[in-house]
Amino acid sequence: MANSALWVDVVLHSFHSFVMVGNLRTLAEAVRHNMVVVAACRPCGREGRFLARDLAQYKGWNASPWKLKFRCSACDGTEMKVTCELFDLDPRSVQVIWKPIEIKR
Ligand SMILES: [Zn+2]
Repeated sequence: MANSALWVDVVLHSFHSFVMVGNLRTLAEAVRHNMVVVAACRPCGREGRFLARDLAQYKGWNASPWKLKFRCSACDGTEMKVTCELFDLDPRSVQVIWKPIEIKR
């Protein structure tokens, strides 16, 4: 019985993570779950990763991560595919984290 209880626990946990990512509405929620926001440029494929915390400080805690505007530094494109991922704390994995800056034109 102990084994089956553990199994249920694991399944519930991964189900919860899945729902959590899909239902993210604000940067505050993304920060609470220690997530990174990944913006991938559709025209050239370049990817930028931002800590949700950095974006929240810059764009406001109630901003939607899906509606953020990014500009590609390689091709100047603004057509971005935005996704959210859990921040990988494994020190062996290398993640380049970008800092949001405002570009005035
Ligand atoms: Zn690009």
